Amino acid sequence: MPSHDVLIIGAGLAGQRAALAAAQTGATVGIVSKVHPVRSHSVAAAGGINAALNPEDTWESHAFDTIKGSDYLGDQDAIEIMCREAPGEILWLEHAGVTFHRNERGNLGTRAFGGASAARTYYVADITGHAILHVLYEQLMKHSDTVDRYEEWFCTDLLQDDDGRCVGAICRNLRDGHLEVFNTKAVILANGGAGQAYRPTTNGLIVTGDGIAQAYRIGARLMDMEMIQYHPTTLAGNGLLITEGARGEGAWLLNAEGERFMEKYAPNKLELASRDVVSRAEQTEINEGRGFPDGTVALDITKVPRRRTLEALREIVNIGRDFAGVDITREPIHIHPGQHYIMGGVKTDSDGLTTIPGLYAAGEVACVSVHGGNRLGANSLLDTLIFGRRSGEHAGGLARQMTMPSTPPTRVTDTERHIKDIINRPPGGRRVAAIKDELGDTMNKYVAVFRDADGLNKAYEVVRRLKEEAPKATIDDRGAVFNQDVIGAIELGYMLDVAEAIVVGAQERKESRGAQFRTDFPERNDDEWLKHIDVTANGDDVPKVSYSPVTITKWQPQERTY
Ligand SMILES: Cc1cc2nc3c(=O)[nH]c(=O)nc-3n(C[C@H](O)[C@H](O)[C@H](O)COP(=O)(O)OP(=O)(O)OC[C@H]3O[C@@H](n4cnc5c(N)ncnc54)[C@H](O)[C@@H]3O)c2cc1C
Repeated sequence: MPSHDVLIIGAGLAGQRAALAAAQTGATVGIVSKVHPVRSHSVAAAGGINAALNPEDTWESHAFDTIKGSDYLGDQDAIEIMCREAPGEILWLEHAGVTFHRNERGNLGTRAFGGASAARTYYVADITGHAILHVLYEQLMKHSDTVDRYEEWFCTDLLQDDDGRCVGAICRNLRDGHLEVFNTKAVILANGGAGQAYRPTTNGLIVTGDGIAQAYRIGARLMDMEMIQYHPTTLAGNGLLITEGARGEGAWLLNAEGERFMEKYAPNKLELASRDVVSRAEQTEINEGRGFPDGTVALDITKVPRRRTLEALREIVNIGRDFAGVDITREPIHIHPGQHYIMGGVKTDSDGLTTIPGLYAAGEVACVSVHGGNRLGANSLLDTLIFGRRSGEHAGGLARQMTMPSTPPTRVTDTERHIKDIINRPPGGRRVAAIKDELGDTMNKYVAVFRDADGLNKAYEVVRRLKEEAPKATIDDRGAVFNQDVIGAIELGYMLDVAEAIVVGAQERKESRGAQFRTDFPERNDDEWLKHIDVTANGDDVPKVSYSPVTITKWQPQERTY
């Protein structure tokens, strides 16, 4: 039985940063990933990472922008930590080998991003996630004596002892299908988000909410689940992202009449208002008939000097050419708002501790909450690294004071039985992919930029029905080696749990704040709703809803204009 002081599920930026930090405390570490670590979804992060590192900028300004961006739902103590620690993290990354862009004076250069009062986004062209992820992986190699990597292993369940403490996990080796019980003093969930519960999404096929659902199933509290970010610039049909870096470099948004419509919605920040504001503005233009017939508006990147686009935005030059047949240096490209990010997740404190003893969470799977109702662009990479590191340090410290708990080995038989049941399902039923598509389409129709009670109720009915259908969904592959059909069937269950929590949160919040815009409750209502909505599992019944307070340190809620 593999046994490690700290077991990390997920090897994107949050997981790898946590692994490095835990290893540096002297703990032994196991890090599990269902894909090779450098294929984790963090590799897709494009535009950059925020920090108030320039002498003329301040962490307080970064914190205020983040709080305002969150529509005052973010916890200000956690935001303070993130913004204070950001400059040190950027320098640490640069010293570790991340080739951040440098300006003509040879200093680290920045670009502007949405909702920020200063240009404080550090970047590597438009491949920032890729660059950081590879450097972290190199750094992890240095610790190969104490860090064991389980690459292409899939975690199916978290294990608790009789007192409810998380003491391990069950994982399946995807190469041959065998299951192992992992024993540990602390588990850090770093499984990323849940974008695949929507269709389309900017998120890759592997982003299926596994960690959120696994934590929820063992009783962990989820928070801010209703807050789903729609990114303003995604390609119609396939959801591919055109980075906010394009608008940061000077691109304009135009409706079908050629009007720069952001002048009406955000006269000061224009295209660089926060994402919820820009997505709503675009959707309003489209809904009121000023979009293009394909349900889009245009992003005009020709406003950016061509040389600069080819240097700093080269990935989206390729995306435009390959996926839309458009040379973005010469003509506008059609875009619309698309599902991108989940602000909610497993509720944690600022050291990553969840409501389950022994269980931590960091990165997109977690909700600290530093993003509240709306995440600012380039604050997610920062969140993964700051709270990944803090979780690793804390879990490593905890491990030093503990002896290894014993794990009940019999639990593996439940998982074996579950997988056998999936493989033995009779053919001819509805396919996993068909159920997943219905889920994604439903969420994208009713739990999107604009919501109302009727639509949310419809979404809830569909999710409940799909939860009944999913355990009978048919698969084709009955083998043991790289059986992605089995994994897909398990992931579908996770996505349905996550979707249910999202819908329940959205039904509960009867106001408009951040990414949750209720057309039936169009105003923000601080008197009644300046609070987090927490969701916990309740057997097969409707999830249980409760509330927790928003931490306000020194920034009182104000009217939010850009
Ligand atoms: C296209 C795109 C561009 C973006 N650009 C930016 C940007 O410029 N700046 C910014 O701040 N943010 C950006 N974001 C958001 C940001 O990239 C993500 O929020 C962040 O990278 C998530 O990192 P993570 O470590 O939490 O998860 P991930 O990188 O998604 O890693 C999850 C890990 O968990 C593993 N895993 C999941 N489930 C299991 C399981 N059951 N068993 C075993 N392993 C499992 C996966 O294999 C993977 O290793 C972007 C997002 C997208 C989609």
